[in-house]
Amino acid sequence: MDARPLLNRRLEGLGTTIFAEMSALATATGSINLGQGFPDTDGPREIAEAAARAVLDGHGNQYPPGPGIPELRTAVAEHQQRFHGLAYDPDTEVLVTAGATEAIAAALLALLEPGDEVIAFEPFYDSYAACIAMAGAVRVPLTLRAPSFRPDLDELRALITPRTRLLLINTPHNPTGTVLTPEELAAIAALAVEHDLLVVADEVYEHLVYTGAHHPIAALPGMRERTVSISSAGKTFSFTGWKVGWVTASPDLVAAVRTAKQYLTYVSAGPFQYAVAEALRLPDAYFDTLRADLLRKRDLLADGLAAAGFRVFNPEGTYFVTTDITPLGEKDGLEFCRSLPARCGVVAIPNVVFYDDTEAGRSLVRFAFCKRDDVLAEAAARLQRL
Ligand code: PMP
Ligand code: GLN
Repeated sequence: MDARPLLNRRLEGLGTTIFAEMSALATATGSINLGQGFPDTDGPREIAEAAARAVLDGHGNQYPPGPGIPELRTAVAEHQQRFHGLAYDPDTEVLVTAGATEAIAAALLALLEPGDEVIAFEPFYDSYAACIAMAGAVRVPLTLRAPSFRPDLDELRALITPRTRLLLINTPHNPTGTVLTPEELAAIAALAVEHDLLVVADEVYEHLVYTGAHHPIAALPGMRERTVSISSAGKTFSFTGWKVGWVTASPDLVAAVRTAKQYLTYVSAGPFQYAVAEALRLPDAYFDTLRADLLRKRDLLADGLAAAGFRVFNPEGTYFVTTDITPLGEKDGLEFCRSLPARCGVVAIPNVVFYDDTEAGRSLVRFAFCKRDDVLAEAAARLQRL
């Protein structure tokens, strides 16, 4: 073989995801895994039973329709209406995907030309950088800086160039927990309209908001026709392994995203689609309890981290609390996370891997609180050893 690297240049440096690395480290060391964001308690029993029933009754065991089963597309449209007052046609404006991950990939591959610029908040969720790279596009970070992690909207305006094609926003934001306010969203929307930009909005944590409320940018004037909204069942129903996600957008945007999606997976998760259709129709009490439980867990972990000496940035939403390790006499989050299992049997995620501006993230470390209360208490006790 010649000396040419096997991995193509676009994917150079992307390596193994930090989530895979840190979950493997947790398994190898028997540590408490507060790294990768997945709950250690499964979602509602009746929804798991609906999935089992679908398999046994032969619903979805063969290829489901390309855009997703009609029951789920209808349930997604009803959910957008019920929670956000957004009307989407289940036949032309909803697309079911293999998790939000595939929706992000399909949207970016469908909508970008090589050389297009994509402005996204950094720290970026890891698949954004990879998918922008696979599309041959250029990522342009708008850095969310500690301690507030709010977007600087003047800076956003200054980042827009004639090559800017798309704004990739994520609210509630992983890993900082920032939830964009109506004012911030209105300012972003106004820039999108003024510069005729597309918006991809990753809203997978839409139900996990503890301060303020989640507002979809698609609801703002001029935005419906230019926004691809993305969500998924993983976080909302505590079944992250099912990988059922969806896109809602105008028929033209859905058709574009579907074109890419059909050559990525074609379809996925047939029986789970039936179960998620039921899940989306759960009563309000389900969503309220989920949020209240996670809020309690957030506070439990945040208090434990503060008591252990971390500087804690209280998240407004998501599964995650970001901390600064500087008060512990530490500087380098990556080194800290690699040594943490040996030092106290806990795994966390170094936020620095989500930054281009590594100085802005060097000392920041993310902990997931979507775990049983006793696990969080034990983790907090172990971290006191620091
Ligand atoms: N976007 C964000 C911001 C995430 O944190 C995650 C991880 N759950 C995803 C997308 C991927 O979601 P899914 O598991 O549905 O593919
Ligand atoms: N979204 C999850 C997190 O941020 C990870 C999902 C993954 O491993 N790709 O922890």
